[in-house]
Amino acid sequence: MSTVHPPRNTVEALLADGTTVELRPLGPDDHRSVLDLHTEGMSEESRRLRFLGVSRNAPQQAADRLCGAPRPGLLALGAWAGEELVGEADCELLDEPPQTAELALAVADRWHGRGAATLLLEHLVHAARAVGIRFFEADTLFGNRAVHQVFADLGLPVERRYAQGEVRIRVPLDDEGGERYRSAVDERGRRADVASLTALLRPASVAVIGASRRAGSVGRTVLGKIRRGGFEGEVWAVNPHAREIDGEPAHPSVRALPAVPDLAVLAVPAGAVPDAAEECGAVGVRALVVLTSGLGPEEARRLMRACRRHSMRLVGPNSLGMAQTDPTVRLDAEFGGAFPRPGTAGVAVQSGGVGIALLQRLAWLGIGVSSFVSLGDKYDVSGNDLLQWWESDGRTDLALLHLESFGSPRAFARTARRVTRTIPVLTVDAGRSTAGRRGAASHTAAAATPTVTREALFRQAGITATRSIEELVEVAALLHAQPLPAPRGAVAVVSNAGGIGVLAADACAEAGLTLPELRPELGELLPPGASVRNPVDTTAAVRPTELALFLRALELEEAVDAILVCLVPTALCETPGQDPAPALLEGPARRRVPIAAVLLDQQVPVRYRGCADGGSLPVYSDSLSAARALAHARDRARRLAEPFSPAADAPDCDRRAARSVVDGYLTAHPEGGWLDPLSTADLLEAYGLPLTTTVWARDEHMAAVSADGLRRLGHEGKVVLKAYWPGQVHKSAAGAVRTGLAGDSDVRSAYREFTRRFGPDLAGAVVQPMAAPGVELLAGVAQDQVFGPLIVLGLGGTAADLLADRVARLAPLSERDLSTMITELRSAPLLLGNGGAAPVDLAAVRSVLARLSRLADDFPELVEADLNPVIARPDGALCVDARVRLERRPSFDPYLRRLRRPTAAEGE
Ligand code: ADP
Ligand code: MG
Repeated sequence: MSTVHPPRNTVEALLADGTTVELRPLGPDDHRSVLDLHTEGMSEESRRLRFLGVSRNAPQQAADRLCGAPRPGLLALGAWAGEELVGEADCELLDEPPQTAELALAVADRWHGRGAATLLLEHLVHAARAVGIRFFEADTLFGNRAVHQVFADLGLPVERRYAQGEVRIRVPLDDEGGERYRSAVDERGRRADVASLTALLRPASVAVIGASRRAGSVGRTVLGKIRRGGFEGEVWAVNPHAREIDGEPAHPSVRALPAVPDLAVLAVPAGAVPDAAEECGAVGVRALVVLTSGLGPEEARRLMRACRRHSMRLVGPNSLGMAQTDPTVRLDAEFGGAFPRPGTAGVAVQSGGVGIALLQRLAWLGIGVSSFVSLGDKYDVSGNDLLQWWESDGRTDLALLHLESFGSPRAFARTARRVTRTIPVLTVDAGRSTAGRRGAASHTAAAATPTVTREALFRQAGITATRSIEELVEVAALLHAQPLPAPRGAVAVVSNAGGIGVLAADACAEAGLTLPELRPELGELLPPGASVRNPVDTTAAVRPTELALFLRALELEEAVDAILVCLVPTALCETPGQDPAPALLEGPARRRVPIAAVLLDQQVPVRYRGCADGGSLPVYSDSLSAARALAHARDRARRLAEPFSPAADAPDCDRRAARSVVDGYLTAHPEGGWLDPLSTADLLEAYGLPLTTTVWARDEHMAAVSADGLRRLGHEGKVVLKAYWPGQVHKSAAGAVRTGLAGDSDVRSAYREFTRRFGPDLAGAVVQPMAAPGVELLAGVAQDQVFGPLIVLGLGGTAADLLADRVARLAPLSERDLSTMITELRSAPLLLGNGGAAPVDLAAVRSVLARLSRLADDFPELVEADLNPVIARPDGALCVDARVRLERRPSFDPYLRRLRRPTAAEGE
């Protein structure tokens, strides 16, 4: 390897204690800092461990090596807290063994134990892998417990060789894609994130900056709410123009406060936000909530800088504030509405208005809130952070999100997949329609998203996606108070009026629930004339005691996973003791199976009714809502029942070769675009994707010569000729594909025809051997704005668009995804062996999908890929046409810990 590029970007990331550090490659300007790190920053003993003995010149040599003349093959990263170099990690390529780099690591003594070494290592692993380094090696002293712990915790396999008091450590980096490493990184990320959010969500003291005397002003309103809300910590008002506000003293500046607040709420004009933030950071404030809206790009940039440099987490700007109901905190720092009742639902919204509506509905229903955050423009703290907080706060058992855009989709999808295993995460799929998307886009500067399969994608990430706030609340009502049904989701529908029951049964069927047949014996519990075919018609004559007994029997039925009871007040109900509704409420709310009730005379869409056992029964005014909620609960149960499936295996992918194709193309075409046929072939080959032999021919003569060479590989000795010109889309429709060419004259006349037809546009042609016929499939990569790369499988060939038989899954695919993608196709029988035909080589099809998934996951630059057709046969799968589009993308690796850079504040 000749050149090793340092990672281009400076990034910020969190240490284990939540401190923000900046990571960047070391350069000549850092010589002094590196020297200081190794001298003042380290004790004699630390130096001995670092340099394997005492050497007076070692610090100087280290600084010279890291910051002197450029050394090809050296990667050196520093972590900075403000102006201080906290630590460095570097690796330098060895001549022998190949692809191996010597690793060195140093962290200043006072920063030990805060995860700096691990963070630096993670980033160095990432940078090293990107340039093809496959092993780290390092000599360490036997007694260097700290460094051995760092390697042990990293999550990568570590080989150790002992010799004379030293330990030679060898770390293979190939496993970076491994689940063990990724989970270790995730776990460290979660802990650091939660630590950094503590000052925001559990502050011991708060300052409101810009609290004015004017009644009705945002600052004053929030200040008043914090005081009246009974905040358990200290609260101070900051206003240079007022001595007192509401009879309490006001302070001229943050510096003048008696102590440093954990959290500052900013309600100053947009132009004053950056300075206020800088001042907060300088005194040591750890978190900001910025209520101000309308910041310009320069103000945004300066605000972000202050936050990153001084290690402050930021909510907003344009936030409605936040609330923490934990009785040991009780912080009501928002100007949305009433302080939410304490409870277990975590709520985060992007738009303040939605937040108000959502909190109000939860209050009506009686679901309490653990914490509420109005994220506003989401420069820093995002839905992702909140999910991790709720996952860890020990109080939250239900997460409600309303987001219009996702800063780092892949990271969000990965976090959601994990968090939803412990708590349900509900969201409104905002911006579904084109018009809604336009609103969402201008609202948040997020680009438009094709949403065709969004609902399915949410489901794959484990998220319960609803279509409206109302539906969100209706589903929350069920999930919050009732157990999950068994994954089968078989519902018994019970009503006291036949027609109503039929409607409810239809609603269930439409929501994808099944209605099992019930045992006729159950009918003995009901009045004569009742029907126990599901839906059950108890008749209007059913007495409360009968209904109670019947429900009791029903919940114990093996065939029943959930119950929907739908009651309408009949004239009989007016007879004392005849109304069946009380029977429902006097029974238990908590049963073996979930129960949702529909009372048709109820005016609000959903409410809780307290039951005899102290539990809550969700009661809906209409059976559609109840059925939909049950279906969401069933989906969640199904997901939780899925056993863990490992990431799809794609061995021997040559990331370095692929990287060189991608970088080569993007250097030549910074604006991005479609790869030419030969680069496409190189890229696919690097990842073991089976593209048929493809030879480039510039003119008729070369086409004829190549065809001659390829003919013996072709089915029945034939070849295929395809015209190429940059920017082409569908070749066959344009008459650019000629298959089944047998002899020399066929090839020549086909080429001449291309010349006639396409004239000067024609850049040349590709020649391929004719593939044997099989099932033509399409395999590809597409991008979703919310979730990132999707892998698509479908029926392919020229009829692909017509039949539109496709399935899509979020990348990275699991082994189970590979199976279910194939079986979910409508054309699956063609693959599995239909009517006596031999089944195709499914392992080969799975391998194509797994490799595409790995490629898309490794290269965010790959924005679109279309392998169509992949010809699947009993003896393998072969792609004969592939198109790949690349775009320069900020390389956001979801497995690399770093803080997000919001677009609005970008451009440093
Ligand atoms: P496009 O998709 O741009 O129209 P393709 O290269 O996919 O062009 O060719 C169209 C069709 O021609 C394919 O769906 C396939 O049926 C057939 N075809 C193309 N190349 C080959 C080949 N090498 N062997 C056999 N059939 C081929
Ligand atoms: Mg094609």
